[in-house]
Amino acid sequence: MAKKKSETPESSEAIAKSNYVRCRFCGQKNAVKDGFVNGQAVCGRCKLPLSNEPHKKFADLNKHDYVHPADSKALAALKAIPGVDSALKKFLAVTFESAMRVNFMASAVKITPIQYPDLHAKLQIACTTLGVDMPDFFLQQNPIVNAFTFGSERHVIVLHSSLIERLTDEEILAVIAHEVGHIHAQHVLYLTAARILELLMQVGLNMIPGGEIAKFILNTTVSSALLAWARRAELSCDRAALLVVQDPHVVGRVMMKLAGGSFASKLDYDQFLEQGREFKKLCDENQLDNFWANIINAGQTHPFPIWRVSEIIDWYESGEYGQIIKNK
Ligand SMILES: [Zn+2]
Ligand SMILES: [Zn+2]
Repeated sequence: MAKKKSETPESSEAIAKSNYVRCRFCGQKNAVKDGFVNGQAVCGRCKLPLSNEPHKKFADLNKHDYVHPADSKALAALKAIPGVDSALKKFLAVTFESAMRVNFMASAVKITPIQYPDLHAKLQIACTTLGVDMPDFFLQQNPIVNAFTFGSERHVIVLHSSLIERLTDEEILAVIAHEVGHIHAQHVLYLTAARILELLMQVGLNMIPGGEIAKFILNTTVSSALLAWARRAELSCDRAALLVVQDPHVVGRVMMKLAGGSFASKLDYDQFLEQGREFKKLCDENQLDNFWANIINAGQTHPFPIWRVSEIIDWYESGEYGQIIKNK
């Protein structure tokens, strides 16, 4: 007798019978108890919730499939400045790039398949989903909730410990995927230069080595184009995070916790979304331009979370996300 379709090994009925579920994110085969229910058990390797839903890995994702138009526009303006790429490379060579690397080697824990294996598995999931080579990965004890990527030659992602302590495993995957998005979208040279520039602005511009190169970078046209772009680049990487976690509300909840902390019993996600919609209504195009300027003047490295959540939900609802999932 021919096998019925519902008896293929991947069907939920067959999985329930054989008492294992293959993790949709990392591929690990997990033994589960009878009566396994979606979302109630986690993978032994990556710690993400087990489910019979599919997880899409992109064979051929192009950054132009998802980058935010504000990012493309600001990057084109930056790149239009003659000689900017080679000047930024020289700037990184004479400033801290290599020192930053040594610093993390010395002061943070390197994440490997043995050291924090579930974080390593999450990095691997983000890299295989977007199609990016694995960067170096560090966890650093730090009370400021943050994660960042640097390294124009060899890419490095650093997570702060407070971030890991406050977020769920799916939310941590979203943060890692956002950082891998910076690599996929080829942001890292500019992003590293922007972060070093901000750092140097805090310690005093006269500390900047490099003579003519420093003068070129500090020329207001270059530095303001660089800083203006860096904020907008964040919106593209929130989209990359969504392409990896494949649930807009996981990204939304990360934003909520970034804005309000993680006192979970007092946080209402629907109210937060409502706040995002209200914020968008208040901002017409002109106000938005002022707002970008305010962000930079206020020394913020990222756009406000309330803005980011409304951007990501809008993108999801626009159908663009769905098209990429379907076609790529
Ligand atoms: Zn897994
Ligand atoms: Zn970022």
